[in-house]
Amino acid sequence: MFIKKRSGSELSSFLNIVKKCAEEGVFLTDTHAHLHFPELATDIEHHLTEAENVGVKRFITIGINKKDSSKAVKLAEKYENIFASAGVHPHDASEFNHSDIDFFINTFKQEKVVAVGEIGLDYFRNHSPKDIQKDVFAIFLDLSVSEKLPFIIHNREATKDLIDVADPIVGRKNHGGIVHCFNGDKDLMKWALDADLFISFAGNLTYKKADELREALKYIPLDRLLVETDCPYLSPMPFRGKQNVPANVIFTAYTVCKVKDIDYRNLLLTLENNIKKLYTL
Ligand SMILES: [Zn+2]
Repeated sequence: MFIKKRSGSELSSFLNIVKKCAEEGVFLTDTHAHLHFPELATDIEHHLTEAENVGVKRFITIGINKKDSSKAVKLAEKYENIFASAGVHPHDASEFNHSDIDFFINTFKQEKVVAVGEIGLDYFRNHSPKDIQKDVFAIFLDLSVSEKLPFIIHNREATKDLIDVADPIVGRKNHGGIVHCFNGDKDLMKWALDADLFISFAGNLTYKKADELREALKYIPLDRLLVETDCPYLSPMPFRGKQNVPANVIFTAYTVCKVKDIDYRNLLLTLENNIKKLYTL
């Protein structure tokens, strides 16, 4: 279900398949990375080349607050194959000011900005008070409707409130959305699928103890699926514990192939189709 060793026959035979797809021009997108974070931005050319070598050729770099979203957009403007999202992460919700709305509306109109996010609720860390998190989340969901952009949702231990806030907005005409870094929550999965949202899997899908998450993946139709790294966080196996990089999205895709019993090439074609339904890139 996942590659255990950083060398050996399982890894090398997978890398052969990866290489063959890359040569045929069948490629993968890392739909959720933080490439503009200092951990990655300082050596960005290296990370992009390394990703390209394993057929990971398109990236969405995700903003988490006002200042950070500007950095995301700047990086996207520099590279043809990098796109950006802008938003306020629940951790940063208390920093948000209503006077920032104009800044975000302007940002959403930039050519390389393709999504609103990441936004959502995080009751695990609670860096911002719950009421403020909910207010800011609702504001950005509204903006995703008015600016005609898909949204990217972060949820941690807040499923009930998240659905309460998002459901009325998602029930209106929305422009699609993603539940990012899905953690296996069944209520969230059911709601997201009913609302026609996409569910995105990150490196935690590959963890030894993630049987429940892999079980949940069996119930998600292929045409609702995306993969991401969330780098610099959450390295998949066999690189768990090291800083994550965009090239590693191939290992999450590997586990998706095993769970869904689909070959790598077909998975990549399916994911590309999904991305095109959601984004204009
Ligand atoms: Zn993220």
